[in-house]
Amino acid sequence: MFKKIKRFIYTKILRKKYYRIGNCLGCGKCCKKIYVKTSNHVVQDEKEFEKLKLLHRFYGYLTIIGKDETGLIFSCSNLDEKTNLCKIHKNRPGICRRYPQEELFMMGGEISEDCGYKMVPIVPFSEIFDKILKK
Ligand code: SF4
Ligand code: SF4
Repeated sequence: MFKKIKRFIYTKILRKKYYRIGNCLGCGKCCKKIYVKTSNHVVQDEKEFEKLKLLHRFYGYLTIIGKDETGLIFSCSNLDEKTNLCKIHKNRPGICRRYPQEELFMMGGEISEDCGYKMVPIVPFSEIFDKILKK
């Protein structure tokens, strides 16, 4: 019953397609290569990023380290380089607490292979396949 309620909330109310399972292993990789997405695109230039810094403290933590076909790449100054742990863990922004989210895929991103979290489809492929066969 709990599973059904959870699935209903995730799919019908939150409009999610994936459950996040697993735990953070503290490797720090997701804090070393970050893309910044605004409402409809990944940030491409420094000027735009400077404006974003005024909107949320999270952006102020980021430093540009490069650019690729997706957009500007940032790393976070709060990552302790020796321990790979977040120096403001207890007060880290919500976006860090919610990582990884499925929106990551929509902007062309991916979770590192050795991340302790995995995203699994809420509706298994076999169930979708069965529905198609019944039609
Ligand atoms: S990549 Fe995954 S395991 Fe590594 S710090 Fe980020 S959330 Fe944790
Ligand atoms: S604030 Fe902490 S958890 Fe968030 S990106 Fe920076 S180092 Fe990572």
